[in-house]
Amino acid sequence: MVNSNARIAGIVLAFWGVTDLWNQTECHGSEPSVPTRRVLVIGIDGVRPDALQNANTPAIDHLIAAGAFTKNTKILGNRYRENETISGPGWSSFLTGVWADKHGVHDNTFRGRNYDAYPHFFVYLKRKFPNACTGSFVDWEPIDTYIVRAADVRKVRPASSKDSLEQKDKMLAGEAVQFLTQQNPHAVFVYFGQVDEVGHRDGFHPSVPSYLQAIQTVDVHIASLIGAIQSRPDHVQENWLIIISTDHGGRGRKHRGGHDVPEIVTTFLVVSGKDSMKGEIEEPSYIVDVPVIALTHLGVPIEGAWQLDGKAVGVRQEFRNNQ
Ligand SMILES: [Zn+2]
Repeated sequence: MVNSNARIAGIVLAFWGVTDLWNQTECHGSEPSVPTRRVLVIGIDGVRPDALQNANTPAIDHLIAAGAFTKNTKILGNRYRENETISGPGWSSFLTGVWADKHGVHDNTFRGRNYDAYPHFFVYLKRKFPNACTGSFVDWEPIDTYIVRAADVRKVRPASSKDSLEQKDKMLAGEAVQFLTQQNPHAVFVYFGQVDEVGHRDGFHPSVPSYLQAIQTVDVHIASLIGAIQSRPDHVQENWLIIISTDHGGRGRKHRGGHDVPEIVTTFLVVSGKDSMKGEIEEPSYIVDVPVIALTHLGVPIEGAWQLDGKAVGVRQEFRNNQ
């Protein structure tokens, strides 16, 4: 298993021809101030759960079979739901664990952002474990520009690039595979943008072949990320948790103004690893749960002063002792 996965990761690296990528700070994670467990958070922009169900996604299916899953996650909470149902507020909630009245992002201008008070979850990880190694790989530039600035290693495919999001996703996946295999990461965020792009072009719907194909293409990238983790010599002891979710669904060719549209506000959540629950997640789940799940797995106690809105759904009860 390990050997074959190592071979796959090697093939993936050779395929992408990735060289000399680490022009930003490298990680130098060392004991004792690092977590004993690790997390990979994957965000796929604009995925409807009914389309995920129709697409052929063996990698995601494998994670669901080995972990916890729901197709009833909400991108807006009951307490606050004034922000637009678009990417800026969505990824802000996804990465900070609070609703928009706190993180301050109501649209894609990012005006009003308050990440100093409600930061990306890597910041909380580094406060507890200063030598933890973190990496962010995104091809929607505002996430890199505004939200994940605390990451040790940041890779972004700029909006000015002429490459399609399909091409950018492929390059980012290769860079993330290299990071996962060659460095010593504890928390990694990888964002894929092509599904949303196809949804806006051809329609967000489980009957749209190109929309399903985009999900399937991302699933191949996820397979390479899983292979990269499994090729790490100590991956069993490292105890990785993989979380996958999205920022919104869609109806027709849009998702703006979707506050009362189930196909837009209802998404999915995968929480998969040795310490995840198994099977359907029964309790209500929200996009703000993602960073709380990650921090809980990483052994970072959630402090009340942070005012996080999420909770650690999908994580086995015995690991939720700080809630
Ligand atoms: Zn989006």
